[in-house]
Amino acid sequence: MHFSEIKAQEQQNMMPTYGRFEVAIVQGKGVMAQDSEGKSYIDFTSGIGVNALGFCDDRWIAAVTKQASTLQHISNLYYNPAQTALAQALCQLSGFDKVFFSNSGAEANECAIKLARKYGTDTYGRHRTKIITLVNSFHGRTVTTLAATGQDTFHRYFDPFTEGFVYAQANDLKSVKALLDENTCAVFVEMIQGEGGVMPLEPRFVKELERLCKKHDVLLMVDEVQTGMGRTGTLFCYEQYGIAPDVITSSKALGGGLPIGACLCTERLGGVLNNGMHGSTFGGNPVACAGALSVLERVADKEFLKEVTAKGAYIQQKLAQMKGVAQVRGIGMMIGLLPRQGTAKEIACACLEQGLLVLTAKEMVRLLPPLTITFEEIDKGLEILARVIGQA
Ligand SMILES: *Cc1c(COP(=O)(O)O)cnc(C)c1O
Repeated sequence: MHFSEIKAQEQQNMMPTYGRFEVAIVQGKGVMAQDSEGKSYIDFTSGIGVNALGFCDDRWIAAVTKQASTLQHISNLYYNPAQTALAQALCQLSGFDKVFFSNSGAEANECAIKLARKYGTDTYGRHRTKIITLVNSFHGRTVTTLAATGQDTFHRYFDPFTEGFVYAQANDLKSVKALLDENTCAVFVEMIQGEGGVMPLEPRFVKELERLCKKHDVLLMVDEVQTGMGRTGTLFCYEQYGIAPDVITSSKALGGGLPIGACLCTERLGGVLNNGMHGSTFGGNPVACAGALSVLERVADKEFLKEVTAKGAYIQQKLAQMKGVAQVRGIGMMIGLLPRQGTAKEIACACLEQGLLVLTAKEMVRLLPPLTITFEEIDKGLEILARVIGQA
């Protein structure tokens, strides 16, 4: 099918919720994608940080197809070895003790929010339900996770929103302290605000935040939906800040391209959500879990993570040398660059034209290449980017 037909089909039958680039991607392998007209692209997006192993990784395909031809779904009324295997590996490798599986990042965050409120009210009484998030954060698109998101543009059209969220300034402990009281059950933050423009939190703030939370038994919850699963050079990004959160959420890269989310917590919180208090029809689907286990086994490897760090440093260093780049931000292979000329969107469109897929986040051009990308492929992509930014 040609692009014009695909576009016509979409316009006829789909709600116009997405501002799409003017191409239809129809297949991919590794770091290369092809569109409906046969044109090739180097992928610096991983489908927004999802395809950590690139497109159609052979071992991932083998794991997924094996599970799909063994048992594609079973309800959560029964035990499920694909789920338990993933749960065990996730807990062992992350150091957390208990997990709940969902289908998306927003759903993983819903679980964290429910857990925090249940813990707060169980332990301290009905009043303890308030959650502090950060200005410029992003936590999802459900009505509750929109409320958790600290950006006014997301608080339009769909009110009434879920109550109980307040927004502190990132890197400003005073602003957190001013909001924290006996009604606060949790602080929920991203280590790097991804959608907010690739803004890493300052290490000192994060350490102070941890201390403050511990002192008041306020749960420290980290949204690792975009930063997790090796993206920043450690399995989860919080590890680099030297903190021990109570709860983390994971999704995006977790399934390597299949929908899955996870909410992980420490031992003492492991029984807070119990029989009948939370659930999901598809959550922990065996095929998604088999894919996730395959991703996890690869990205948790120390050597693999070292390479992510090296590749991230390489990309960031090359970007910093480009004349058209005013600023580079990020950790590992989660990278944002501020162009000197042209908007991020204009640059993304020009890159697309030249055969390179990149993302934007606010005023930043955002790069989330597959973690398996080679240095040669990085060079090829950066050559295109340099050319585009030079002329933008
Ligand atoms: C993408 C993202 C989400 C939402 O995930 P969905 O799978 O789209 O629901 C939540 N938090 C962060 C930090 C994200 O980057």
